[in-house]
Amino acid sequence: MRQYLDLDKRTLEKVVCNQCGRELRLENGILQEGVFSGEARWGYFSGKDGEKHTFDLCETCYDQLLKSFRIPAAVEEETELI
Ligand SMILES: [Zn+2]
Repeated sequence: MRQYLDLDKRTLEKVVCNQCGRELRLENGILQEGVFSGEARWGYFSGKDGEKHTFDLCETCYDQLLKSFRIPAAVEEETELI
C-alpha cells in the first residue's frame, strides 16, 4: 500500500506491506529495501469485471508467498540492477 505526498503520485510518503503491515524504509521518497508491487486489472471474463487491484509485499512476505507455489517462480539473473 502506497501513500504519496502529491496528487501526481511522484513522491512517495509511505509504503506498507499489505501482508504483514510493516512500513518499508524510505529515505527522501526513495525505497531503501526490496519490494514486490503487484497489480491486477480484471476484465470482462473475471468475477471482478473492471476492478484494478494493487498491493505491495516486503521481501519476507514475498518469499513466503513464493514458498506456497506448487511450481516455483522463474528466476533469472539480471545484469542491470534497479
Ligand atoms: Zn510483509
